[in-house]
Amino acid sequence: MKAHPKSADAFAKARRLMPGGVNSPARAFGAVGGEPIFIDRAEGAYLWDIDGARYIDYIGSWGPMILGHAYPPVVEAVRDAALRGTSYGAPTLAENEIAELIIDCVPSIERVRLVSSGTEASMSALRLARGYTGRELVIKFAGNYHGHVDSLLVAAGSAAATLGAPNSPGVTRGAAKDTLVLPYNSPSALAETFARCGDQIAAVVFEPVCGNMGLVAPTQAFLKALRDLTRQHGALLLCDEVMTGFRLSLGGAQQRLGIEPDLTMLGKIVGGGLPVGAYGGVSGVMAHVLPEGKVFQAGTLSGNPLATAAGIATLRALRDDPPYERLEALTARLEAGLNEAVAASRATARVQRLGSMITLFFSAEPVTDWDTASRCDTARFGRFFWEMMDRGVYLPCSQYEAMFVSAAHTEQDIDQTITAAHEALR
Ligand code: PMP
Repeated sequence: MKAHPKSADAFAKARRLMPGGVNSPARAFGAVGGEPIFIDRAEGAYLWDIDGARYIDYIGSWGPMILGHAYPPVVEAVRDAALRGTSYGAPTLAENEIAELIIDCVPSIERVRLVSSGTEASMSALRLARGYTGRELVIKFAGNYHGHVDSLLVAAGSAAATLGAPNSPGVTRGAAKDTLVLPYNSPSALAETFARCGDQIAAVVFEPVCGNMGLVAPTQAFLKALRDLTRQHGALLLCDEVMTGFRLSLGGAQQRLGIEPDLTMLGKIVGGGLPVGAYGGVSGVMAHVLPEGKVFQAGTLSGNPLATAAGIATLRALRDDPPYERLEALTARLEAGLNEAVAASRATARVQRLGSMITLFFSAEPVTDWDTASRCDTARFGRFFWEMMDRGVYLPCSQYEAMFVSAAHTEQDIDQTITAAHEALR
């Protein structure tokens, strides 16, 4: 592993200042047996660390940077907004504009509420579903991650899975007991649970395409069971598009796969790299949110002018010059190259992709749920990760995260990545 002396010094100091030296566990590189690289700046598809090394970036801030880093219209919009004051705590025209953009893009959203993170979006949508139905139980799927909401931090994916705490201390039995955890992609488990206690279920929360156990696509049968059973039993279907929204198509996974959720959670891309989340859906359900309805939800910085400006600039760019065909082609090229590298090295590995989300699993079998994901060779992934890092390719630091390709990546970046993968796997 190459030395990163400035990052090593910075991390030693960070550990004294912050738990684990980081402000979010997914960054700590714990799962790949090493220390994180400190980033100095980013532009387009590249990151530069504080030791001066350049990397092709496949994290994209864990999803938001679909247009690449420091995308000029976003930078300008944030600069202009800052000069007019960073926060007012009062309504602005920009909030109308971003709400209209979201509603125009995402098929099932008729009205929307802005928050400041994906976690807040999940927490609020779940409270709304419970307030609306008057029921308490929620179904979630093992390996899906919906932010660190107490009642959803049960059998959670992403950093929770990676770091061995899918069920966090501090989540009370009370909060966890209303959460039923089922395997992803299992229509029969869902049907059995609804048959048993369907009249008590407020909501089913799911990732329409899962990125938080690596890239796992849903089967059509699973998607159909989700919609049919929730409708039959009067439960709401909550589609967590924090990762997939504006990524798998302008209208997210729901547009691409034909899903009709009652409520949708958004985050990441909707804020263009600034803190924005949102939840929205059927107008009649959204009418139950305070002050129109009685379900409480609020935020000092909700609809913040800087964050909203970045979101608007991003969504406008995606609407006016959609990058989705290009993203599909670039990521298909990466998929083909990684498959060749796997075949050439005879590694026990497989590539799974949907749109611009892709994972190289060190697994002998297809990964379809948490059970199969948990059998991956994570130690081997860790070695692969550092071999790629040494070759200037920055991958998510866990087997259980998807890589994201951005519109700023070039064919040359992809080919360089494939060459690195050939060497790394060998
Ligand atoms: N839902 C999904 C599907 C996510 O991937 C994430 C974050 N990776 C969240 C919710 C939580 O979002 P945030 O980190 O902005 O709170």
